[in-house]
Amino acid sequence: MKLTILGNCGPYPGKGAGTSGYLLQSADTNVLLEYGSGTVAQLWNHIEPKDLKAVILTHMHWDHVSDFMMLATTLQFAKMKGQLPENFCVYVYMQKEPAAMAELLENCPAKELFDFHYVKAWDNIIIDKLQILFTPARHPLPCVGMGVREYERFLYYTGDTNVMEELTLYAKDADAILADCGLPNEAWNENAPHLSAGQCGKLARDAGAKRLWLSHLPPYADQKQLLAQAEEYFEFTMLTKVGDSYLI
Ligand SMILES: [Zn+2]
Ligand SMILES: [Zn+2]
Repeated sequence: MKLTILGNCGPYPGKGAGTSGYLLQSADTNVLLEYGSGTVAQLWNHIEPKDLKAVILTHMHWDHVSDFMMLATTLQFAKMKGQLPENFCVYVYMQKEPAAMAELLENCPAKELFDFHYVKAWDNIIIDKLQILFTPARHPLPCVGMGVREYERFLYYTGDTNVMEELTLYAKDADAILADCGLPNEAWNENAPHLSAGQCGKLARDAGAKRLWLSHLPPYADQKQLLAQAEEYFEFTMLTKVGDSYLI
């Protein structure tokens, strides 16, 4: 598997870095994971519209959703220019709540090019060689994390979540954890919507993960400090960077 960072900030874009968006690739399968602001412009640096197979959205916050209409509009024009194969269709996996948001996405431009599905925790989907298990998350809106397996390789993505004891089980023995490092330690509290940097490190350590990639970075925070707070618990930690690709 290969994971490319298309956007790594949240809940709003930073300088030159959009919000959550990741390209997950397995052989010739391309899955867009989240489509936050600036994601689609980055996506076309890596694949052609005709090669997009599926998009997965963990929840309906704007920092994860805002580029969906731009994705739909790009595909609409690709279709008009004859750049898409006959029967081209992108599978969309998303939450059904809030219903107004789901309805907005389902009525996007060129909606006939999409096949919409609702997901919830403990649903399983298979996209070619990728096996994806959605897991619970603790966030103000319905949200999921996910374990992605390709043969023996295992990537765990937390989605947006506050800390939960069970996260350690969901991420157990992951080859890599892509974590919602939404808060510096000092900004975290029991009702926060995100993990702190230190909790990301602790999660990777307790789960026995091999690597930890910090994302959903708050633009107002000192990134070196976030890294140091995670590294206090887990040595093999890295800040994600837009445009970078990592093998799993
Ligand atoms: Zn977010
Ligand atoms: Zn969120």
